[in-house]
Amino acid sequence: MIGRVKDSAHSSAPSASDSNAEASMTRAADWSIARAAAHAPGAPLVTIIGDGQLARMMQQEAVELGLSARVLAGSAAASAAQVTADVVLGDYTNKAHVLEVSTDADAVTFDHEHVPNEFLDELIAAGINVQPQPKALINAQDKLIQRQRLSELGAPVPAFTAIENTEDAASFWATTGGKVCLKARRGGYDGKGVWFPDSEAELNELVAELLDQDVPLMAEEKVVLVRELSALVARTPSGEAKAWPITESVQERGICVEAVAPAPGHDGEVLNQARELSRTIATELDVTGVLAVELFEFRDAEGELAISVNELAMRPHNTGHWTQNGSVTSQFEQHLRAVLDRPLGSTDLTAPATVMANVLGHDDADPAMPMHERMDQVWRRFPAAKIHMYGKDWRPRRKIGHVNLSLPADQPATDEAVAQLRREARLAADFLVAAEWSDGWTEA
Ligand code: ADP
Repeated sequence: MIGRVKDSAHSSAPSASDSNAEASMTRAADWSIARAAAHAPGAPLVTIIGDGQLARMMQQEAVELGLSARVLAGSAAASAAQVTADVVLGDYTNKAHVLEVSTDADAVTFDHEHVPNEFLDELIAAGINVQPQPKALINAQDKLIQRQRLSELGAPVPAFTAIENTEDAASFWATTGGKVCLKARRGGYDGKGVWFPDSEAELNELVAELLDQDVPLMAEEKVVLVRELSALVARTPSGEAKAWPITESVQERGICVEAVAPAPGHDGEVLNQARELSRTIATELDVTGVLAVELFEFRDAEGELAISVNELAMRPHNTGHWTQNGSVTSQFEQHLRAVLDRPLGSTDLTAPATVMANVLGHDDADPAMPMHERMDQVWRRFPAAKIHMYGKDWRPRRKIGHVNLSLPADQPATDEAVAQLRREARLAADFLVAAEWSDGWTEA
C-alpha cells in the first residue's frame, strides 16, 4: 500500500466517536497544507527512489542546498525516511508508486539501481526528468551487459563469458586454467552473488544449482589483485564531468571496509589512466549523477601495474564517503547538482589524505554499551574523527555507519602518516562495532 507517512499515522489514530473522526479529518486537512509548505518555495524538488543511507546522505545535502527532497521508502523506519520531511511509503517495484512520487519532481534519481527500467521508460515518455536514464542504468544492472559494453568501448575488463549451462562453465574452466569467478548477472551486492569455486566439480554443482533457481549467470577470470581502486566521477545531462582523485578500497569477505584517498603510493600513469577511463565511461554510457568505476589493480604479463574494470555503480558509492570530509564537494552534493544539471563543484582535496572506515554490525551480537557511549569514547581518543551513522539497527556485517579521518592540512601524506591514519580510522570504527579497543588501549 502506498501512503504518506503522516497519513498512515492518522489512519491508525482512534476514531471511536464522530468527534474523534472529525478531529482526525481536520488533522488530515492540516497535514495536506503542511505538506505543501514542507517544500522550499520556488526550489527544485528531487525525488529519490530508495530509503537507505545513500538517500539519507543526499537528503542531508539537499538541506544545505535549499532543495526539497522526497524519498520513496519501504518503511517509515528506513534510514532515509527517518530524516526526510517528504516521505512516501511504497514499493519501487510497483509502477503506480514510482509514478506517484515522480510526477511533480524536477528530477528523479535513485539510491540503488533496481527500479525496473520499463517504469523509467514510461516516466521519460511522460516528460519526467529521470537521471540517470535506463539506457545508462542497464550497464550497472546487468554484469554481463556491462562487460560486453565496456569491451566495445575498449575499456580493460577480465576475460568473461555468459554461462547458460554447465558446458559453458566447463569450457571456461578449461580456458582460464581454473581461475574462475562466477557471478550472478543481476541483484548482487556486498559480495552476495560472487563465487570462487575451488574445483571444476564445485563450479559445475554451483552452476547447476543456480540455473535451476533461475539465476542468470556469467563467469570471468579470477584476477590476482594487487589492490582495488575506485574512480569516481560526476556528470551532468549537459555533459560537464568532474572526477575526484582515485581512491583505494579494501574489501573483506566481499564488503568494502576501508577507503583511502588519494590512493597511496600510486603510480602516476595508472592514476591518470583510471581517471580518464572513468570520464570516458561516463560520457560514452551517458551516465548522469555520480558514477563509481570499481577497478582491479594487477600485474600484467610483463609485471607492469595495470587496471581493469570490476563494476559500475550509478549513484553515490561507499568508496566516495570520504568526500564528505576530504573534498570541497561531497559526492552527495555533487550527485544532486548533477541530476539537476547545475554547475558541478570543485573536487579538490581539503586534506592531504582522508581515510573512511566502515562500521559494520558485529559478527556475533551487538555489545551492550549503547552506541552514543561508544561514539563518546571514540571522540575522546580521536577528536578529529567524523562519525556518520545511518540510524540502522545492528545486524551481523550490516553497514550501520562510517568514520572519516583526515590528515591535518599541514601534514604531508607520507607513507607513515597515511598508515597511521588508516590504523586510527580502523581503531575508531572497530570500537563502534565491538565496544572495545582492538589495540588494548585504556583511557588514562
Ligand atoms: P558486488 O556486486 O557484490 O559488490 P563484485 O563484483 O564487486 O560484487 O565483487 C565483490 C568482490 O569480489 C570484489 O570487490 C573483489 O574483491 C572480488 N572479486 C570480484 N570479481 C573478481 C575477479 N574477477 N577476480 C578477483 N576478485 C574478484
